[in-house]
Formats: sequence, structure tokens, C-alpha cells
Amino acid sequence: MSPGILKLYKYVFCLFGLLATLPVTADGLKHEVYKLQGSETGKTVLIVGGIQGDEPGGFTAASILVTNYKITKGNVWVIPNLNFNSIVQSSRGINGDMNRKFRAINHSDPDYDAVEEVKRLIRNDQVDLVLNLHDGSGFYRKTYIDKYRNPYRWGQSIVIDQSYLEGSAFPGLEAMGKTVADKLNRRLTASDHQYNVKNTRTRAGNREMQKTLTYYAVKHKKAAFGLEASKSFATHERVFFHLNLIEEFFALAQIEYVRDFELAMPTLKHLIGSNLALSLYEKRIALHLDDVQSVIRYFPITRDGRVEFEANNPLLAVVKSKGHYKVKYGNRSIARLYPQFFDYDKSLETVSMIVDGQYQSIPIGSTVNIDRDFLVKKIDGYRVNVIGFVARKKSEDELRVSRKSMLKRFSLDKGHNVYRVEFYKDNKFSGMVLVQFRG
Ligand SMILES: [Zn+2]
Repeated sequence: MSPGILKLYKYVFCLFGLLATLPVTADGLKHEVYKLQGSETGKTVLIVGGIQGDEPGGFTAASILVTNYKITKGNVWVIPNLNFNSIVQSSRGINGDMNRKFRAINHSDPDYDAVEEVKRLIRNDQVDLVLNLHDGSGFYRKTYIDKYRNPYRWGQSIVIDQSYLEGSAFPGLEAMGKTVADKLNRRLTASDHQYNVKNTRTRAGNREMQKTLTYYAVKHKKAAFGLEASKSFATHERVFFHLNLIEEFFALAQIEYVRDFELAMPTLKHLIGSNLALSLYEKRIALHLDDVQSVIRYFPITRDGRVEFEANNPLLAVVKSKGHYKVKYGNRSIARLYPQFFDYDKSLETVSMIVDGQYQSIPIGSTVNIDRDFLVKKIDGYRVNVIGFVARKKSEDELRVSRKSMLKRFSLDKGHNVYRVEFYKDNKFSGMVLVQFRG
């Protein structure tokens, strides 16, 4: 059993056990560390997203670093989904606030492994700078303006624990934070967008802040900043602020990069949640999520109820729920999969199809584009089921299938372009190929 399978097995197990007397543990979805390395050497920045599960601005920005940036100079280590089990449940912390566990944590705490791994990364000699991404309430302002804009709020602030940190790679924390805020503020017009540096003066006796990730870093002579985007803004707006801040820190740390999109709010609104895909059970099933139906029925799940998946985005997960499985992208629910349980047959690697008159060999778990029609070649010993195509035949092979012959309600997508072709051996499920009608 690969570690991935083990991990997901544990996860499903723990949710099955939700109503039992045992407490919910953090077994299950685990955060990932992405080490983005430039071809030119340079400083190393550690960026943490999702320490609290209900702050999508921070963890979405961190995930975009992984999926849409290429580091060309220096190193960027990203944990986009630190508190993954809380993220998929839209909870600040299903096991309490993880950002209060960095001074002391009990071995039995479900967050123990995650917290200790982050501590090890922070202590790693290579790490020069630590950024912890948050979404905060209201707007931090140096003087009291109103209920939402005052010194007690957190939104639109760069948080430091002290103004100077002797012995770190970037000792002038306050000066660095101010430089970043000033550069960013010059580009921002609305007054609520403006950033300020908030000094929590942690060492001087701020007991709450002494329990945090950034203060742990400071104690280990690592320059650290908490970056806050206001919860008053929509997620894509928060992400805009976070990425701008991160890029300003990159400039000061001489980290160089390219990104594959324009850093602007409308672009981010479109980018976030797009180009999402999953593959399940060692790539026997592909699932494109961009225009996916909110409910998918008769979805083949192994008889033990385990879901084993690979995702192209760190915020994607399949989570067991009551009577179905939820496909989650961060806090968002994308689709519900209602299972049909099968034993799996792993003997089928490719199938043959005639696509628009051309013979093609198609790997199981892939997607085929169709302009006109397709026909699945007969495979001895296997049964073919074109979901949404009605034929008076046990195995729907050697039949020409066009878009018109499909029942729309069986499509995987809302646009009625994508359909499932499933393969079985005896009563076992052998895999799926998706057919996508174009035009
Ligand atoms: Zn937070």
C-alpha cells in the first residue's frame, strides 16, 4: 500500500467514525510541502497558507504560487494547505486554533505532526524568511476610526512581533514591512485597500502571540511576517492583496519568478477554481471539475469505501460525507458523488475506439475528444457501458454513438458535452474513459 492510499484510508475511516465515541483525529488529509527551486541560487522563503481553515484568501494565494508561478531565482517553499482537514470543513480549526500551538503542543494533539513539521522547516538553516498568510477581520488602522477600522483589527496589515531581529537574514522587520506596505499602497487607490504594519510586541508580554508560528520563527532568529487580507473583501480580492505582498517580499529577498497570468482582480476571479481535475484509483477514472454537474450518481467507488485520488491542485480533495462523497476545493463544495460500490479489476490498460472514423488506442482513465461520433471496439471478456446511451445490447460495443444519441441528463458536465464510457470484467469495474463532444 502506498503512503497516499494509507493516508486516504485513514481519512475515510476517521469520518466514518465521526459519530462514534472517539474524537475526530487529524488522521486523513495531510498538508503538502512544495519546494519550488529556481535555477539560480538565492534566498529561501517559507510561505504557509491555511493554518486556519476558514481563511481562503491566504490558502488560495499560497496554492496559486504552486500552480501558476515558476521560481527562477532562489527558493520558495510553500505549504498551501497546512490545516487541510479544517479547510475542507470550512472550520478555523477542527482541533482548536493551530496558530496557538507553536509554543507548546501535546503529543496526543491531532495537529502535532503538522505543527512539528512546520517548526522543523522554520528551523532549517536554509530558510531566511517566513510568511504566514491570513485573512483578518476589519481593517487594522493605527487610530480608532470606527468599529471596523481601528488598532484592534487585523485586516490589511503586515504583522510583526518586534521591530528588529538581531541575527536574522532580514533583521529590520519593521523597516522591511513598511517598505512592502509603501510600495503596495502606491498602487492601491481605495483607502480601505491600504496596508499598515502592525507590531504585536510579542516578546514584551503578548501571551497570545507568543503561541504563534511567527513568534516561533522569531525565537529561532528567522525573519517572519504575518500577512493579513481583510475578510471584508471577496476571496479573489484577498488573493490579489496577498500575491502583491508576496511579490514585494520576493523583490526584497531577490527571489525571481514568472507567473502565467496577469495579477489583477478580474483575472484572479476567473483563475480561482478553474482548471481543476482529479484522477481516481491509479488513474482509472478522470474527473474534470470546471463545468461539472453538482450531483454525479452511480460513481464507482471501491467496495471498502476508500477513495484514492490524485489532484492537480493542492486545495482539491474527496471527502466522505453522509451517503456520498464531496469533492472540495478549499472551502467550496464542487460536486457530490453518490457511490456505487464495486470490486475493481486492474487488468485493462487500454481500449480501442473508432473516433470520427479513425482507429485509436485509448489509455483507461483518459479523455477523448469527439467531433462526430465514436465506436468502442469489442474486448473479449469485458462489458462496455456508455452511460446515457440506450442500446438493446448487454455490452455497448461495436455501436456508433453520436452526441444526438446521448441522454443529456447523464452528462458529467453542465454543458452536456462529457460522458462516461465504463468497462467491466464480470461484475468488477475495470475503469472509465471520458468522451468529450466538441463544437
Ligand atoms: Zn488567521
